[in-house]
Amino acid sequence: MSSPVHVPMNQFPVEDDCLLVGGRPLTEIAAQFDGRPFYVYDSALLTRRMDELRAAMPGELLIKYAIKANPMPEVVRHLSALADGLDVASAGEMRVALDTGLEAQKISFAGPGKMDWELREAIAAGVVINLESENEMERAALVGVELGARPRVAVRVNPAFELKSSGMKMGGGPKAFGVDEERVPAMLRRLGELDLDFHGFHIYSGSQNLSAESIVAAQEKTIELGYALAQHAPTPVRVFNIGGGFGIPLFPGEQRLDLEPIAHNLARRVEEVAQRLDGARLAIELGRYLVAEAGLYVCQVVDRKESRGEIFLVTNGGLHHHLAASGNFGQVLRKNYPVVVANKVRGGEREVANVVGPLCTPLDILAAQMEIAVAVPGDLVAVYQSGAYGYSTSPHDFLSHPHPGQVLV
Ligand SMILES: *Cc1c(COP(=O)(O)O)cnc(C)c1O
Repeated sequence: MSSPVHVPMNQFPVEDDCLLVGGRPLTEIAAQFDGRPFYVYDSALLTRRMDELRAAMPGELLIKYAIKANPMPEVVRHLSALADGLDVASAGEMRVALDTGLEAQKISFAGPGKMDWELREAIAAGVVINLESENEMERAALVGVELGARPRVAVRVNPAFELKSSGMKMGGGPKAFGVDEERVPAMLRRLGELDLDFHGFHIYSGSQNLSAESIVAAQEKTIELGYALAQHAPTPVRVFNIGGGFGIPLFPGEQRLDLEPIAHNLARRVEEVAQRLDGARLAIELGRYLVAEAGLYVCQVVDRKESRGEIFLVTNGGLHHHLAASGNFGQVLRKNYPVVVANKVRGGEREVANVVGPLCTPLDILAAQMEIAVAVPGDLVAVYQSGAYGYSTSPHDFLSHPHPGQVLV
């Protein structure tokens, strides 16, 4: 049996055996950074991904971007013009979202543990707050009284079911996120007594799901749950956000998500939701699906060593810049991201090598025993699928090396 391989990565063209990003050779972009590692995001690929998604999905479906996947202001601005809204998870992210000029009511603020000053800032701006608890609802109402503003709120529901085949579960069972569905009717009754402007429901069950079948199944249960809870709402639901969880292939053996069954099912449900819930709009919110494949992390080979029969390419980048690719961001068994020698994509000769970083820890691995072009110091190593959960989720100060750069081209 042959071992599983990565799906082909062909989002970036190759010219003279070098990757092109935004039509420019990666070596030229690297020169701008003087050899320092960097992330590069391709704006045309961001646009293309959104266009393809729009073409597949029903026209009435709202598609929101969850900016924690990539909060770089230029990326958020680019997507704010293409998406129907932005989902943020802190006051810091909210400022990035508001700075795009998007209307405040198209921005929703999720996440447990919102502090009073964050609620104040969000309510003053007119952002929709996804309430994560009854306590947060009471505090939002108090802030509203204090500011003389009517807070826009939605209720985040923790469903009783779980999203199957999800890389990261965020609903079902006891969770820090949202309010258990069985508590929501009482919460909605109380919400009606407070001076709060009810927008709708937010039900988010998980992330990094590559199975269309399980996403459809979760959406079906989510929509049925929304119908049941809407009976208790003080005013009609305006936006019903059923989450996302669309995954991208990262590891050998993973296949791209098939959108067709999801789109097919939503086409029917979008109309039904509008009918049964007084014109409510169905929304999904996506993070990594919109940005991950448009980004590369790039570093340089500094040393090439042999140790007891294995090749080690030591680079100036690694875990401190790209925690996820090193395998230390939620992975149980370490697997390789797709990695390539960016200026020798095919390469004259190929070999099996380990690509490691400069940190004094055995965790600092970018690729373990991977088949790759023979590389020497000065060559560029690129990690694919790095447009999401790369730069912002990494411990840049660990070992006090220079921080990576970031650029949207
Ligand atoms: C993290 C998160 C997202 C984005 O998740 P992806 O896996 O990047 O799509 C969306 N919504 C909420 C509430 C989140 O916490």
